[in-house]
Amino acid sequence: MSYVEKTTRGWGSPSRYVQGPGEIENLVKYTSIYGKKVLAVIDPFFFADLTEKLTKSYEENGAELMTLEFTGEVTAERIETVVEKAKEFAPEVVVGIGGGKSMDTAKAVASRFHAAMITAPTSASTDAPTAALSVAYKENGEHSHAIFYDKNPDLVLADSTIIAKAPIRFLVSGMGDALSTVFEARANDASDTANYIWFTHGGFRRCKSALVISEYCYETVIKKGRLAKRAAEKGLVTEAVEDIIEANTLMSGLGFENTGCAGAHSIGDGITALPVGSKTLHGEKVAFGIICQLIAEDASEELIEEVAKFCVDVGLPITLEELFVEPTEENLQTIAKGSLNSFWSAEPFNVTEDMIVDIILAGDAIGRYYKGLEK
Ligand SMILES: [Zn+2]
Repeated sequence: MSYVEKTTRGWGSPSRYVQGPGEIENLVKYTSIYGKKVLAVIDPFFFADLTEKLTKSYEENGAELMTLEFTGEVTAERIETVVEKAKEFAPEVVVGIGGGKSMDTAKAVASRFHAAMITAPTSASTDAPTAALSVAYKENGEHSHAIFYDKNPDLVLADSTIIAKAPIRFLVSGMGDALSTVFEARANDASDTANYIWFTHGGFRRCKSALVISEYCYETVIKKGRLAKRAAEKGLVTEAVEDIIEANTLMSGLGFENTGCAGAHSIGDGITALPVGSKTLHGEKVAFGIICQLIAEDASEELIEEVAKFCVDVGLPITLEELFVEPTEENLQTIAKGSLNSFWSAEPFNVTEDMIVDIILAGDAIGRYYKGLEK
């Protein structure tokens, strides 16, 4: 356990958050607040289309735009490659448009150039857009380390039309990530672990505001998740979809950064140590991790049932089979070992490798029960 060293509370968040239909079209308006030389790191799926549209609007507005396509994992080498390519251009603003990986790369690049940092998520699959950190991986997809920055993005620009049209699996995976926030916040509160605000300088005790946001994040996902999925499956933007975009992105982001991760993310990270770990999305692995964390915490059956039933309804995995994990002794130990490098120390009790193996198997059994595979 790592108690906070003193009782000082700390809070961090993006400076601005803008969410609505068609907002990416206003990018030039927003970036002009921060500078005229804009580097956009864009996911391959949107690269050609957005480069064409945005170049035109930047020319019309007398600003300079450089676009770079980003594919693959966020690794230290790839970040260097983007920095090298942008050196001559010397951007004043760096925008990451895409999934967590484009945004995490853009954040690293912005920090290197001391440029304004803007994230524009094209799906609501993680809480990467708001955070003052990037998650770096090894070339094989295994979780490597987190890169911390001194500030959060200056602006998070969420275009709900684009997000609602993304493959539904992303929005659902984001709900898995968002659903974990409250349980991990409560664990960090119980163990009085430091949050991630200026983490490299030690972090702080969490503000009550962060706990309230985490609780409301859970409530929003449980109440609106099913409705949002039905609408977004058809590419529609409704208020329920907007609520889930906000829960997955802003509430979950503010919640986790200002309180901390715990067991659910540890299990998720542990699964990335297996080659099959790359077959599932971050929030999908975390969803299974929630069930495991709740078992470790001896949570009530009602609570486990509420989470499990929600996961089954929206299609979040809660069994090893759905995560493509064979329950061999070797695999379970690999997950347990990998997971101990993450956030288990934020739980208010000691966690061992053997214990993790048992809760993974128990989580799988409970998951199978709620999926109707076991009586
Ligand atoms: Zn997460």
